[in-house]
Amino acid sequence: MFRKTLIGHVIKGAKTLRKGKMRPAAPEIKIRDEHTVSRKDIDSDALKVLYRLSRHGYIAYLVGGGVRDLLLGRRPKDFDVSTDAHPRAIKKLFRNCFLIGRRFRLAHIRFGQKVIETSTFRAEPVPMDPGEDLYEDRNNTFGTPDQDAHRRDFTVNGLFYDIKTFHVIDFVGGLADLDARRIRSIGDPRIRFREDPVRMLRAVRFASRLDFTIEKGTYAAIRELHSEIRKAAPPRMLEDIGKLFGFGASEAAFRLLLKTGMFADMFPELVELMDDKRNDVEEMWACLAALDKRLKKEVDGPLAIKLVMLLYAPFQWVQAKRRAVGRPVDQTEIAESLIGPLAVRFNVPKRVVHDVVHMLMCQHRLDEPRRRFSKRRFVMQPSFAGAFLAYQMASECGMIKSPQIDFWLERCQENEISPPKSLEGLVPSAARAPRGRVKGRSQGHPRRRSRGGRGRRGRRTPNAEAPKHD
Ligand code: ATP
Ligand code: MG
Repeated sequence: MFRKTLIGHVIKGAKTLRKGKMRPAAPEIKIRDEHTVSRKDIDSDALKVLYRLSRHGYIAYLVGGGVRDLLLGRRPKDFDVSTDAHPRAIKKLFRNCFLIGRRFRLAHIRFGQKVIETSTFRAEPVPMDPGEDLYEDRNNTFGTPDQDAHRRDFTVNGLFYDIKTFHVIDFVGGLADLDARRIRSIGDPRIRFREDPVRMLRAVRFASRLDFTIEKGTYAAIRELHSEIRKAAPPRMLEDIGKLFGFGASEAAFRLLLKTGMFADMFPELVELMDDKRNDVEEMWACLAALDKRLKKEVDGPLAIKLVMLLYAPFQWVQAKRRAVGRPVDQTEIAESLIGPLAVRFNVPKRVVHDVVHMLMCQHRLDEPRRRFSKRRFVMQPSFAGAFLAYQMASECGMIKSPQIDFWLERCQENEISPPKSLEGLVPSAARAPRGRVKGRSQGHPRRRSRGGRGRRGRRTPNAEAPKHD
């Protein structure tokens, strides 16, 4: 009943807008002297795109996070452009332009590694059939600037900066919400989150990254609809999970994710462990806080080490529980049992899964260097850097009782290896990842060799580059 009314309302609203009966309100405009967006803070290639479009008579706006961050005095992560030029017209203007997307074509204008995403103003998608699921992907249609602002997710993301007049244009109340430091859905959040559940994850990301609150109605809609997140496509989920760690805000983001209920939808196995009274959940937050400390100073790091820090405390909890009941502790198996469900749920690439497992299982070696194994070979392994950084972070937050940092720094020096300093410097291990499904120890995972023997010497595995353990 509710669904029908809801969808009927959307159709009616969209149709009236199409017929031009419901005129959009005039935007709030801030002229150059009234805002802080300055061209010197805009990426030079984004400016090239804006200027060329404008010179050819098109509307050219800087949009989305770029405007939001510049107004907040932050450095934007990327710069997106919107225009009334159609994709084919954009392509004609830029030789370095590639059109992507099937239904709604987006222009990617490339400058070396950098891409300036340039989209044509788009209108809100219209559900054609009252029975149609709001989640279904529907055809997009070109639209006007105000329609384009209204199809965006949050008011603070719906602002435009016009390169011709240097005005900031606000069709959605984003300026007021920026002032109030508030994340508010554009339109009815219950409709917008059903259309695209990833928006709920984005709300959490922006609130934690910018230290904003989520507006009451938007927050209530997330609390109501959090389980819709399970419908989101795994690759998008993974991309957005990675972004939750950005800008050193992962502790805040995952705490908020838990409060909204989405954490339990996304990581039910971890919640089960967190609910166990014997486990100290604060340890998990502390690991993320240690990661945040690093990522506040650095631009980014590989996904694998971020996942390692999320799983660090649970990895210890499971081991402790097994020890307590006298069960054997197989680190590989435990690491796989933690990352495995996430790998399936979010399509985590095999090389990332492999790195996570490997880094986790290196932890006991780092912590017990007195055991018999070749320290030289251990520090020479390509995966040592990531494992050691994770160990350092765990030590910094008190997870490790008596950290062996100096011991390993000395081993690095002895073997003329510069100890890892930054997460940014870590190279993902694509080249040495196993090809097949990561399962058990059979596909490139280090196998414990019998003591004193070099029985596998000379036997080349198909994956000769797989990290060697001794
Ligand atoms: P970041 O700083 O993390 O890049 P952003 O706001 O720029 O944040 P993007 O993912 O780069 O986010 O998207 C650019 C813009 O596209 C957003 O600001 C928003 O206006 C719009 N957008 C992105 N994803 C959605 C979505 N799922 N629904 C509606 N609008 C979206
Ligand atoms: Mg962006």
